[in-house]
Amino acid sequence: MLKAQKSLKATVITMIATLMILFSASGANAYVYNGGKWGSANITVYMYPMSSKSASAWTAARDNWSQATDVNLYAGSPGSNITLNETYNANVTWDGIAYTSRSGGVFLSPANAYLNTRYTNGYTNIKTRGVAAHEIGHTIGLADVNYQTLMAGNTPLRGGIYYPTNDEITGINRLY
Ligand SMILES: [Zn+2]
Repeated sequence: MLKAQKSLKATVITMIATLMILFSASGANAYVYNGGKWGSANITVYMYPMSSKSASAWTAARDNWSQATDVNLYAGSPGSNITLNETYNANVTWDGIAYTSRSGGVFLSPANAYLNTRYTNGYTNIKTRGVAAHEIGHTIGLADVNYQTLMAGNTPLRGGIYYPTNDEITGINRLY
């Protein structure tokens, strides 16, 4: 009996989760959550020493999210919630990547995001900033989607969107 109740509860939770994904994906520029969030809307961000092009992109993208949403992204020291990095890696196809881990839906510090200068060195500053904004989106709770918006899963699909869109801002504000 207990087992049956448990499995019913699990089914209901799964159904609710599915409905939420369908709902959030129904808009033209909607958002999907990646299952994590920080315990507070006040989030610290450390930027590892790097090229000025990457640093400028990360800083601008961090400030975009911070100003547009209820989340506050503060410049912090090593050991902050989020660490921003750059790397040069010719053996991968990604121009940016974010690694997050979580416990019970809460992100664990640090979340690490990278710009890959193998690709971004050939990008305009604004395009690099778009990659940075996308990766920061992952580190505060958004997942990739497969339509044209900032959180589109690859840079060509993003198609010149360099800033969080209104729906993505709404998504973050609902999360925090
Ligand atoms: Zn992504």
